[in-house]
Amino acid sequence: MNQLLRQDLNQVDAFLQEVKDYSVAFLSKIDALPVKSASAEFERLELPRKGMGARSTLLQFNERYGQHLAGNSGARNWGFVTGGATVPAIAGDWLTAVFDMNAADKDTAPLQIETETIAMLRQLFGLPEAFSGCFVTGATMANFTGLAIARQWLGRQLGVDVAQEGMAALANTRIISCIPHSSTVKSLAMLGFGRNAMLKLSSLPDRESIDIAVLEDYLKKHQGEPLIVVASAGTVNTVDFDDLAAIARLKKEYGFWLHIDAAFGAFAACVPEYRHLLNGWDAADSITIDAHKWLNVPYDAAMIFTRHTQLQLDTFKNAGAAYLGDPAKDFKYSNYTPENSRRLRALPAWYSLMAYGAEGYADIVNNNIELARQLGELIRENDAFHLLAPVRLCVVCFTLNVADEEKQAATDVLIKALDDSGKVMMTPTVYQGVPAIRAAFVNWRTTENDLALVWKEMKQQTAALTVK
Ligand SMILES: *Cc1c(COP(=O)(O)O)cnc(C)c1O
Repeated sequence: MNQLLRQDLNQVDAFLQEVKDYSVAFLSKIDALPVKSASAEFERLELPRKGMGARSTLLQFNERYGQHLAGNSGARNWGFVTGGATVPAIAGDWLTAVFDMNAADKDTAPLQIETETIAMLRQLFGLPEAFSGCFVTGATMANFTGLAIARQWLGRQLGVDVAQEGMAALANTRIISCIPHSSTVKSLAMLGFGRNAMLKLSSLPDRESIDIAVLEDYLKKHQGEPLIVVASAGTVNTVDFDDLAAIARLKKEYGFWLHIDAAFGAFAACVPEYRHLLNGWDAADSITIDAHKWLNVPYDAAMIFTRHTQLQLDTFKNAGAAYLGDPAKDFKYSNYTPENSRRLRALPAWYSLMAYGAEGYADIVNNNIELARQLGELIRENDAFHLLAPVRLCVVCFTLNVADEEKQAATDVLIKALDDSGKVMMTPTVYQGVPAIRAAFVNWRTTENDLALVWKEMKQQTAALTVK
C-alpha cells in the first residue's frame, strides 16, 4: 500500500475528529456567513506528483477556500427554492459516504432502507400505496424519469416499445403544460421529444394555473391522440397550483398521461390547512418531489413516484447482462432509474424523517409559510414595494413601486445590495412581464428574527435606492 494511504488509514480516528470539529465550526457560524458565494478566481492547482496526505489536504483546503465558503444552507437563503440540511440529514449523508454501499443490489440493507424511506414519504404526503417510488439525484432527474415512463406509455398506445425501437413512432408528439419548470423542458430535450414538443396552454387571468376550459378544448380536438399533460403543483414564481382535481376529471374522460411536478408544492400535504391544493393529485401517473428543497436534506436527492412499475422497468432495465441478473425476477432499483451504481441517497431522508416525523415536518412547513405570509403583509402595507401575487405558500413575489421603465434597474440594484449585505439572498424574476424579486422560505432554520433583520435591510436599501 502507498505510504500515505497507510498513514491515513492508521490515523482515521484523529483525522475524522478533526473533520468533525471543522464541520461544527462551520455550522455554528453558518448564519453569520455571507449568504451568497462571492465570485472568486483562483490560480488553479496542478495535480500533485506526491500527495500531501489527508490532514495537510484539510489544512490546504481551508487555507485556499475557507474564506470563500458561504452560508448557502443557512436561514436567510431565500433565493431559488433552496432548502438547508437538518442535523440528522447531515449525519445521514456523512454515513452514506462512510458505508459507501451501492443501492443497486437486490436483497440488501440499502434496498430495504430506500423502500422504507419511500414508504415513510408516501405517508408524509398522503399518497396511496399504489405509488411506488425511488430516489434520483434531483427534481430534474425525477421529471426526466417520469417523462421517460410516460414516453414508454405513449409508445405502447401506438403499439411500439420505445425502449427497444426508439422514438420514430413518436415524432410530432405534443407535451401539454401551462407554466412548466425549465427542467421539464430540459427533460424533453434529453428524451428526444425536443424542446419544441412543449405546448404551453394559457393560464387563468392573473394566475399561473392552467385554464381548464382551454385544456379541455385542446383535448376535445385531439381525441384519440396519446398525450402527456405536465401539471404544476407549485410554480416557482408564485407557487400557483394547477387545478389538479379538474385535470384528474379530464384524465378520466380523455385518458392522457398525467405527470405532476410537485417538487416543493407536495409539502402542502404536510399541513391540513393547505392539503386541498393537492386535491386530485393521486390520479397522477407520475409525480416529482424534491428532497433537497423542503425536506431539508443535502443536495443530490429527489423522488419519482409512479403507478406504472412495469413501464418503468421496460424503460430502465439492464437487459442482457448476465452478471446483473434477470431484471424481471430480481427487484433492484437500478432497473428502475437512470443510474446503475447508486449512492444510498435515501439515508439522509431516513435520518431526518425518523428524527422529526410528520409533526416535525408539519412544523417546518407551517413556520416557513407563516414567515412568507408575514413578509407578504409587510410588503403589501409598505409604499416602497408592490406585492405581485398573493402569498399562496412559501414564496413572496414582489417588485418596487417605481415607474415601469425603472423597475428592471431598481430591482437589479436592490438584489445586488442585498447580496452585498451578506444578510440575505433573493432571486430576480419576471412575473407577467414585470421585473420582480422572489423570496422563498423552505429552510428549517429560518425564524422571525431572520425576517425582522431582512425587512430592516430591505427598507434601508430601498430608501437609499430612491434617494439616488
Ligand atoms: C427546483 C425545481 C425543479 C428542478 O429541481 P432540481 O432539484 O434543481 O433538479 C423542478 N421543478 C420545480 C417546480 C422546482 O422547483
